[in-house]
Formats: sequence, structure tokens, C-alpha cells
Amino acid sequence: MSKIAVYPGSFDPITNGHLDIIERSSKIFDKVIVGVLENPEKKNPLFSVSERVELIKRVTEKFDNVEVESFKGLLIDFMKKKESKIIIKGLRAVSDFEYEFQMALMNNKLDSNIETLFMMTSSQYSYLSSSSVKQVAMYGGCLKGLVPDEITQDIIKKFSKKQG
Ligand code: ADP
Repeated sequence: MSKIAVYPGSFDPITNGHLDIIERSSKIFDKVIVGVLENPEKKNPLFSVSERVELIKRVTEKFDNVEVESFKGLLIDFMKKKESKIIIKGLRAVSDFEYEFQMALMNNKLDSNIETLFMMTSSQYSYLSSSSVKQVAMYGGCLKGLVPDEITQDIIKKFSKKQG
């Protein structure tokens, strides 16, 4: 049986912390599906869902067992559609833990076949989040090492348009 894992998130935008989790998971599972959540609760995203999917596809091209897709609604419904029973989550700090713990228990309650596996962040990315990247970019700070080089210009352009 092939082991398919889903790595869900907003990825607005994808950071080197996300990419690290994707790369490490791709070595463990037969297939990793990055699920980009269309979340109506998150107002004013920087990138549209389809733009986010395109950016992630661009930076994960080198991994031949990684796919990228968007989804709406419940994660467990997306998992069923993709025939996956494994959710991958990255953990940065204790502060991530409580929320992720609650989500993992809820998903398991909704479907007891689903398991959430947590991967600890690599120490050099423990401070990194999409929102901190957006703050740095908004004030013209250097994005080197924070996001994949291939997408730096997309982020800078987006902010210059917004401020334009
Ligand atoms: P963010 O919190 O950066 O806005 P998302 O909501 O898109 O990111 O996160 C998707 C998943 O990636 C979550 O499981 C989150 O804990 C994990 N993640 C985010 N940033 C990192 C990082 N720097 N290292 C490890 N995991 C991370």
C-alpha cells in the first residue's frame, strides 16, 4: 500500500520552513500532497489561492513525489478524496502545540482512520512564519534565507502593487 501524506496550510506565501517540512516528508512518504486551504476566515490574503498553488509548484518541481492542490471545507474530506490517512504538520514552538493538538484530536474524532504526524522544525527556521515574512517584505527588508529565491521577486512585486 502506498503511503500518501497530506501537508495542509495557508502558505501565504510558502517559506523555507514549509519547504523544509515538504522536503523531509517527501523522503519518508511515497507521495506528499501539499493542500492549500481556501480559508474564507483569513481576510486579505497576500496571494490568491491559485497564485499560492503556482508558487509552491514552482519551488517543489524538483521533488517528483510532491503534488500541490487547493481544497475547501473539511480537511478530512480532502484526505478521503486523495486516499490519504496521514496529515503532516510542522511544529515550531510550544505556542503551535495547543492549537495543533486540538486540531489533531478533532480530525481523529471526525475520522478515526486519520493520523496526524508532527515534524519538528529545523532550528534555523523556528522563528519563520508566513506573517513574519510579510512584515519583513512590507518594510522592504531582505528576504534571503526566509523564502525560496525563486519566489522572492513575486513577493516584492505584490507589495509594490499593493502600495503602488
Ligand atoms: P504560517 O503559520 O507560517 O502562516 P501555515 O498556516 O501555512 O503557516 O502552516 C502550515 C503548516 O506548516 C503548519 O503545520 C505549520 O505549523 C507549519 N509551519 C509553518 N512554518 C513552519 C516552520 N518555520 N517550520 C516548521 N513548520 C512550519
